[in-house]
Amino acid sequence: MKLDVNALRYLTKDEFRVLTAVEMGMKNHEIVPAELVDRIAGLKHGGAYKNMKTLLRHKLTHHDSSKYDGFRLTNLGYDYLAIRTMVSRGLISGVGRQIGVGKESDIFEVVTPEGETMALKLHRLGRTSFRAVKSKRDYLKHRNSYSWLYLSRLAALKEYAFMKALGEHGFPVPRAVDWNRHCVLMTLVKGFPMVQVKQLSDPPKAFDTVLGLITRLAQHGLIHCDFNEFNLMVDDDENITMIDFPQMVSITHRNAEMYFDRDVECIFKFFGKRFNYSPPGIKISKGTSEAENLDGDDEEGDGRPDFEAVAGGEESLDKVLEASGFTRKDQEVLEQFIEKAEGEEELSEEEEDSEEEDDSEQLQTETTDNSPDAVESFTKLTIDGNLDDEIDSTRDPQSLPAVSEEKTATEAVRNLNCHINLPIFNQVSICSDVLLFCIREVIK
Ligand code: ADP
Ligand code: MG
Repeated sequence: MKLDVNALRYLTKDEFRVLTAVEMGMKNHEIVPAELVDRIAGLKHGGAYKNMKTLLRHKLTHHDSSKYDGFRLTNLGYDYLAIRTMVSRGLISGVGRQIGVGKESDIFEVVTPEGETMALKLHRLGRTSFRAVKSKRDYLKHRNSYSWLYLSRLAALKEYAFMKALGEHGFPVPRAVDWNRHCVLMTLVKGFPMVQVKQLSDPPKAFDTVLGLITRLAQHGLIHCDFNEFNLMVDDDENITMIDFPQMVSITHRNAEMYFDRDVECIFKFFGKRFNYSPPGIKISKGTSEAENLDGDDEEGDGRPDFEAVAGGEESLDKVLEASGFTRKDQEVLEQFIEKAEGEEELSEEEEDSEEEDDSEQLQTETTDNSPDAVESFTKLTIDGNLDDEIDSTRDPQSLPAVSEEKTATEAVRNLNCHINLPIFNQVSICSDVLLFCIREVIK
């Protein structure tokens, strides 16, 4: 998927104001009534309606008139809002090619005003689970469409907070530069995901480094939970960088041991299969960061580090993370979603047809070409003026003007002729809603 940011260069301040108004309305509306968008945007009468058309044309919003006349933000609309904020903060000045497609994210190359190339990760929580359950209509009905905005934002905050804390504690991770909404700006890692590496000059060394990372994380109170060949980058000198942190959990999590063992198992399996390497007995104890090789004298009998023996001992990063604004409550919300999504994925693996399986394989493996020869071209972005007079999308949703859906339907009919050219059947549907409402009132 390409991220077409061309329109971003031409959108006016008012159009962005209306886009932000849709975003704000989504805090408590699945489909934001057009009238509410208009009120939040607070433009001269009718101003918002004109801008809504432009936003629709650029596919930044989606129009829905099934219940009443309203809008919701699209992925692209949310991307535009976040990217514009990054540009206005002076952090990026151009967006380039896509360098990664994860299960629940898209990663793009971006350029800073100083000319440095960085990576911008746009979280798309809900993408796989929505795909997985798309045939089960009942499921989708119970989902609040705000949840993808909310969850993707939480994932970005968590990823930023973890990456920052890990970097400050000497872990080999990209440098976390900033975050906004669902996106995280980080330094670009040179090299390739380990899944693309066919040969290593020193597999035992790489294995120790990688297993050392899992144990050092546990010593600091954390488990990666998706520690595998897709989330480890290897450069030409075989330096290893760990990426992808939204699913990390604390060693106090009720399934901590299972997650820890699963991470360890992934590495054992991958190194065995790809590099034909399995280590002699390994024992790791509290407070030491490196795996201690016991030359086959292995207490466990299988060379796997023991969670109980390893976990804790070093400064726990939990507190550092809370200070960053990522709360325990946020963690619980994300964990619930991730566990549910994993369950749905397992379920769907058995049910999905082969076409979709191919697709999901592609999602896993479509990865970076970070070679220096790759053509670099960026769509240059600038923002005129400052954002001071723009509406604050972090405002408490409760403070939004209240608009009842029935009232909206009535107003929508009034607005039909002047502002939006709705297809005739939409007009009929809105009129019938109003009619039903009147009948209900009369019966009462
Ligand atoms: P997901 O959570 O969706 O799996 P990841 O963070 O693992 O997303 O990123 C997906 C892919 O994007 C990675 O496998 C890698 O190829 C690329 N990628 C992610 N972050 C960076 C980065 N900082 N530098 C270079 N490539 C990256
Ligand atoms: Mg990943």
